[in-house]
Amino acid sequence: MEELPKIIDTEEGCDEFCDESDFPSFKIMGIDFAKHLFLIFRKFFLGKKILVTKQQARDRMKICEGCEFFTKKKRCIHCGCYMQYKIHIKDADCPEDKWPISH
Ligand code: SF4
Repeated sequence: MEELPKIIDTEEGCDEFCDESDFPSFKIMGIDFAKHLFLIFRKFFLGKKILVTKQQARDRMKICEGCEFFTKKKRCIHCGCYMQYKIHIKDADCPEDKWPISH
């Protein structure tokens, strides 16, 4: 059983987008969430790793913190995801291709 990720906290992020209406709709976020959930469960049942290493998660977060789409709420304005969680998921990817899926 993999160790649950420690939430990475940060004060970084732009002030530009912080209204809920700036983020993708719940429908779009729900479809994306369901897709990733499916991939996570499939990997889990195949006995494969579903989380990246702590270093990989930190590297991803550093990229997000320097990104113009990263908000004070620690959410990506493109996907609406809370990045302190998403950075730990192996199959997660950046919608702007700033960091890749980890294989
Ligand atoms: S996931 Fe990509 S686009 Fe979103 S905040 Fe991080 S680096 Fe920026």
